[in-house]
Amino acid sequence: MKVPETVIVIGAGIVGVSTAYELALRGVRVTLLEEREGAGLGTSYANGAQLSACEVAPWPGPETPLMVLRWLGRTDAPFRMKPKLDPEQWLWLFRFLLRCRASARAERIPPNLELALLTRARLAAYEEEFERAGKTLDYERLNRGILRIYHERDALNSAVKESELFARHGLEQRVLTPAECTEIEPALGAAMQSGDFVGGLYAASDSTGDAYLFSRGIAEGAERLGVTYMRNTRVRRIIAERGHARGVETDAGIIEADAVVVAAGVETRRLLAPFGVRTYVYPLKGYSVTIPAPEGNAPEVSVTDEMRKVVVSRLGNRIRSAGQVEVGGYDLTMEPARARSVLTAMEGVYPQMTPLRDQAEFWCGLRPMTPDGSPVIGAVPGTSNVYVNSGHGTLGWTLGAGSGAALASLICDSAPQMDLTPFSISRF
Ligand SMILES: Cc1cc2nc3c(=O)[nH]c(=O)nc-3n(C[C@H](O)[C@H](O)[C@H](O)COP(=O)(O)OP(=O)(O)OC[C@H]3O[C@@H](n4cnc5c(N)ncnc54)[C@H](O)[C@@H]3O)c2cc1C
Repeated sequence: MKVPETVIVIGAGIVGVSTAYELALRGVRVTLLEEREGAGLGTSYANGAQLSACEVAPWPGPETPLMVLRWLGRTDAPFRMKPKLDPEQWLWLFRFLLRCRASARAERIPPNLELALLTRARLAAYEEEFERAGKTLDYERLNRGILRIYHERDALNSAVKESELFARHGLEQRVLTPAECTEIEPALGAAMQSGDFVGGLYAASDSTGDAYLFSRGIAEGAERLGVTYMRNTRVRRIIAERGHARGVETDAGIIEADAVVVAAGVETRRLLAPFGVRTYVYPLKGYSVTIPAPEGNAPEVSVTDEMRKVVVSRLGNRIRSAGQVEVGGYDLTMEPARARSVLTAMEGVYPQMTPLRDQAEFWCGLRPMTPDGSPVIGAVPGTSNVYVNSGHGTLGWTLGAGSGAALASLICDSAPQMDLTPFSISRF
């Protein structure tokens, strides 16, 4: 197929900016369209910051339905279902429940991991490219690893078993006693002394960084490569005839191109609906809280607390905690009780943060989530030049840059960088 000379990318979140940048590196003339006033202001704004290749196993597993039932009715529950009169919600839930099997979960690990490792490689390449251009790509990256802590021995044992799969791909994780966890992250001392957790699993090669700063930096880098970056420009629809896109209709008029990539996060479903495809990308609301790092005894290693269902990461002189999953449509209202539960969970891990709670900044965002925990990347069926890159759910930061590279390669290279069949929209 002919390589397009011009491509429109819709959406400047982690995924869209990476896709635009990667296409520009391949010599394509790209127009990046973003309805907000800048990059990374959607779901990519204040996430948990983890670049967690060792945690790419999808969220649904055999334990999920029972766990969710146990949380029903609790205001601070890490999971909440808000039923809507929306068939998309019920179709999504039905497919999600079908994926709550050990085999379904295991099946998704190798493709997700391949994307996560490609992301690692691309992030390193971007940093080098910026340096060569006399710039710095500063997104408060910290290469101190990610430590998962467990409060029940059984949960730790199953995680250790699952980690063997990652070891086969060269990603070693260390099983640690509580005291060893504290050696790796001394700020966990108070939690260890109170007997809060029974052990941990440490992925030294994982890291953290600010996805918003990254999105902004890469969008600027893309502009340097010649990308036309239009902020405050909403795409109303893709203009297509018999499955062939001619361009898009925006608030600022019609823009034409040889191909269109939809990387619009939770808006992806709406933009692709006219083509008769179901993306199964549905919003899952999550919360984060950011506070200044306490003086002394501030953590650096990112921690995932597997019981409280929160992550806590260091970003420069700030600490960010994120969690909560709500299946309840597109509503972005901040519910104080839900937001505070993330803060309380963080204080459970690090009691020394409590005096800083007055300075907490709360945020919520909608994860664009598929039922099986892998994104949808590739050509949109029934079209000749429309592509999708969305549905990264809980893993958009971990998989985003790799997804951008893989899709750009599919569009432009004679031999695509990776097999995108596992991410095809047709799998649903
Ligand atoms: C609480 C929370 C914690 C998380 N923690 C982590 C983590 O630790 N690690 C991890 O890997 N992932 C994490 N994630 C997931 C990750 O943040 C998301 O998967 C990722 O941000 C999705 O990126 P995106 O580019 O697809 O979407 P977005 O960032 O939402 O970008 C889509 C963009 O498209 C624009 N847009 C939409 N429609 C249109 C239109 N019609 N015209 C023009 N522009 C449009 C939007 O304005 C938006 O900027 C977390 C998510 C949440 C909510």
